[in-house]
Amino acid sequence: MAERPYIVGNWKMHGLRAMLPEARAIDRGAQRTMKVEVAIAPPATLIHAVYREVEQIGVGAQDCHGAAEGAHTGDISAAMLADAGAKFVILGHSERRQNHAESDAVVQAKVQAALDAGLKIILCCGESEAVRDSGKAVEFVVAQLRASLPAGLEQAGERLTIAYEPIWAIGTGRTPTVDDIGEMHRAIRALTVELFGSDEAERIRILYGGSVKAENARELLGADEVGGALVGGASLTAESFLGIVLAASELQDA
Ligand code: PEP
Repeated sequence: MAERPYIVGNWKMHGLRAMLPEARAIDRGAQRTMKVEVAIAPPATLIHAVYREVEQIGVGAQDCHGAAEGAHTGDISAAMLADAGAKFVILGHSERRQNHAESDAVVQAKVQAALDAGLKIILCCGESEAVRDSGKAVEFVVAQLRASLPAGLEQAGERLTIAYEPIWAIGTGRTPTVDDIGEMHRAIRALTVELFGSDEAERIRILYGGSVKAENARELLGADEVGGALVGGASLTAESFLGIVLAASELQDA
């Protein structure tokens, strides 16, 4: 696992202000586990409130528009997210790709817009069950990443995190084998070396996401080239999320 694992909670469309104590509790837990970098991405409406509540953890967003500003009713620009306190944005999540028909080109524009606004990126990728069954998962994910990353991305090590999230594992309780995760993460690492050179590439953390919980975190985080986890359902309470953070910390000590 990476020197300092990165555990990120994606709250998706969950969370009213009544959930702020949960963010505070996650923050207090993270202060006791400094070997692990912890962050949460609440819904956009809570970013500023969470940012004001916490001291230790990173706060990020779940999406942004691909343009800097303009006539885009209901959309939120990367600069607005940064202004609200976000330091990173999750882009290309499969729920955005599927439910909002986001193509790789759309994701690529969003990545560029977020970088221009000074945000770090967690870029998601992952194959469907049909692609996994066809034996073409690695090729699919590598092609998806190539098409979603802007050309000439500089300081990739500092600004880019990649999250491998097989679509069939998200929210289903099913997970790939440790060997399958390792194979995918090694392929993603090789792609980053090709695109950014080995110095930058070795600093890019590659997270695994899909049904991570405290009970399976140790095993999944122990897979080859896994630098942390992107966590959906199990990030909604401090108790379950901090169980994952603790597993990452214990793996560091092992
Ligand atoms: C996610 O949607 O990013 C995710 C990993 O969800 P879950 O942990 O609920 O599978």
